Amino acid sequence: MRGELIAIGTELLMGETVDTNSAYLAQRLPAMGVEVRFVNVVGDQIEDLVEIFERGLSRSDLIITTGGLGPTDDDLTREAIARVFGEKIETDPDLLHSLQDFFRNRGTVMPPSNAKQAALIPSSRVLSNSRGTAPGWWVEKNGRVIVALPGVPLEMEHMWVNEVTPLLRGVANSSVIMTRTFKTFGLSESAVGETVEGLFGDRNPYLGIYARPDGIQLRLIAKGATEREALGLLAPAEAQIIKALESNIWGVDDETLEDRVANMLSERGLTVAVMESCTGGLLSSSITDVPGSSAFFQGGVVSYTENSKIQNGVDPEIIKSHGVVSASVVESMAESVRTSFGSDLGVGITGVAGPDPVGEVAPGNFYIGIAWAGGVSSTHHWVPPNRSIVKRRAVVSALIDMCNYLKTRPVG
Ligand code: ATP
Repeated sequence: MRGELIAIGTELLMGETVDTNSAYLAQRLPAMGVEVRFVNVVGDQIEDLVEIFERGLSRSDLIITTGGLGPTDDDLTREAIARVFGEKIETDPDLLHSLQDFFRNRGTVMPPSNAKQAALIPSSRVLSNSRGTAPGWWVEKNGRVIVALPGVPLEMEHMWVNEVTPLLRGVANSSVIMTRTFKTFGLSESAVGETVEGLFGDRNPYLGIYARPDGIQLRLIAKGATEREALGLLAPAEAQIIKALESNIWGVDDETLEDRVANMLSERGLTVAVMESCTGGLLSSSITDVPGSSAFFQGGVVSYTENSKIQNGVDPEIIKSHGVVSASVVESMAESVRTSFGSDLGVGITGVAGPDPVGEVAPGNFYIGIAWAGGVSSTHHWVPPNRSIVKRRAVVSALIDMCNYLKTRPVG
């Protein structure tokens, strides 16, 4: 089934809102047998909406839109669909009542403009929205399907899971696309590519290679008549990738580095505390993104100045003789925080986010330190000197160094 996405809203065209809805849907449609061929962004003009719908209907079996279902005059998705199918919009009394109930249950009266959201056309059916006031539409006509979803991501995702996927299973059963992503670290893009060279060029499964902030990723895509057939096509290629890159693979599919570190710490029964400088708390924030992190994360200190490093246990003599951005200082940060929190591991980060150098050290340089009972080590890194890149990459490097260290510790 050929699919097409339309993200609707002038704020998307202005760059004020990033279109994450299309990314969410594009990641999920292949597994439902829908091959996404086009992703469009269009503003809130009725002529533009009609044009993009007409073009979509001429080349795709399924169109999914997000946005433009609100109560205001610039929410025109319903009007545009009615126009391309030549149908008349009418207020549905049941839908109107449920909208009124929605407001009543929240102790308010429905504003008159929300009545617009109770509109249907003869070919549409309602996709209910338990998270908001904008009901979605499922419209089937002339062998084509248009699905209109709200713009608010949480409402859209809820409607996708609960309302759309069951209906889509009924119409999109021609083929299934399955993917598997392998996430690696420690090797360059060309080195990863050369290791699995023989797999490139096949169409099914298709192998792609991508450079991401947390390392090089390999993604396999297989298409089969059933999920089982697609998984069967993936299996030999997966085995080949695992064999060739096993020690460099840190995760698969949606797994994040934070998840990986959390699992490795939990499996080994170890705890960690961090002292970070140029990342301003981002490492602590990333670690605590994982539910249940209080089981292994003892706490963190942001020691942004020399003084605060000294107050938190770093020897001033080390700073004086090696400079505040140095291997010796980051190792001292890791040891100090480990001692003060009484954790199994201590992690330190010091670096220069820029734009100005710190002493002799140019922006983009940073150090990661890891301390454990009886030892400490550090690594030095350089990335292009942009503040947000330095901060994010320092966090990624710290998580990777933690994985590398944890691999040396036995499980259990
Ligand atoms: P509602 O009436 O519930 O607001 P709607 O369907 O009218 O729903 P819009 O008004 O178009 O939705 O968008 C509401 C908000 O949802 C936007 O301000 C924006 O924050 C977010 N949003 C809209 N489209 C997208 C998108 N493609 N990706 C991410 N966020 C989006």
